[in-house]
Amino acid sequence: MSEKVTLLDKTFVKYITADKIDEAIAKVAADIMLEYRYDDPILLITLNGAIVFAVDLLKQLDFPCRISCVKLSSYSGTESTGTINSLIGLNEDIRGKRILILEDIVDTGRTYVHLHKMLMDAGAKDVRIATMTMKPEAYKADLPVHYVGFSIPNKFVVGRGLDYDGYGRNLPDIYQVES
Ligand code: 5GP
Repeated sequence: MSEKVTLLDKTFVKYITADKIDEAIAKVAADIMLEYRYDDPILLITLNGAIVFAVDLLKQLDFPCRISCVKLSSYSGTESTGTINSLIGLNEDIRGKRILILEDIVDTGRTYVHLHKMLMDAGAKDVRIATMTMKPEAYKADLPVHYVGFSIPNKFVVGRGLDYDGYGRNLPDIYQVES
């Protein structure tokens, strides 16, 4: 794929190659296997962004598990709005279950905190998170982030499931907005 892409009014520069992302996901999958292989967890995919990461990850998990999806939204364009909307909620009984949230990116952590509370309130045994990318400089929550593919600077990224107003999710590499 090309070194630069233009989506709507912005140009993005290649930042992490598909090969490196595959390697990082394989490492995350290995760590998840060690923790969950006897626990029959539910892997909770946050739509839409985490779909691509989840597909890549799930194929590498060789133990009994189930998946479920939720859809939350806190972003508009390249900015977090600070308000989290639940667009599709949890529709199954998770009491006593271990839940592993799958995220494309953890930024401020607001979405994670919101989801963590919702899942614990619904009776989950425990809640952890695996994310393809994380922005440590932007993270404001106290909850631990358990499995991280890449820690990245506080700049807007697209690709590999991450979008700019709906575009760019299909890019196999991750691109950073051009300054
Ligand atoms: P948080 O609640 O942690 O602040 O934000 C999490 C959500 O914000 C992510 O699931 C994602 O939808 C969006 N987000 C945060 N940073 C970025 C970014 O750099 N690129 C894209 N495409 N989305 C982001």
